[in-house]
Amino acid sequence: MICEMCGKEFSSLLPVRIEGTVLNVCRECARFGDNVRAGGKPGTTAEPSVIQARLQNRERRMKTRDVYEGGEESIELAEDFPKRVKEAREKLGWKQEELAAKMNERVSIIHKLESGAMHPDDALIRKVEKTLNIKLMEKVRIAAVERSPGKKGMTLEDFIVKK
Ligand SMILES: [Zn+2]
Repeated sequence: MICEMCGKEFSSLLPVRIEGTVLNVCRECARFGDNVRAGGKPGTTAEPSVIQARLQNRERRMKTRDVYEGGEESIELAEDFPKRVKEAREKLGWKQEELAAKMNERVSIIHKLESGAMHPDDALIRKVEKTLNIKLMEKVRIAAVERSPGKKGMTLEDFIVKK
């Protein structure tokens, strides 16, 4: 049998859920996904919002790795950006509608920003920073990325990037 992730031949494979798709993979690759057979236990099902947050975090980590190979310092969207936006707006005495109008955006965008339901793209970040005269980006120290020595196989992250 051939592992659907690393493509190597194995005598037995495990069904795991990866990115919503069930793949038959080897033990080595299985730790990247959720074992399908282990499912069904109470508390093992993550809320959609939790999954979303995890995906966003992973996307951000991947993006960071692309730009800063080996880690060190990075400028990233502050974790508390929703609070920063809300507090800056309230300090100016603006309603969400007023901020939206000044930014030429829909109120729903402002609402999503301040509730943390949305990760703004670079253009929107700059627009918010300029309009409210605040900083949403901050320097973050990234730990050097560990790579298992001598292992040249595809990792799950390689897999996702190529998709
Ligand atoms: Zn494998």
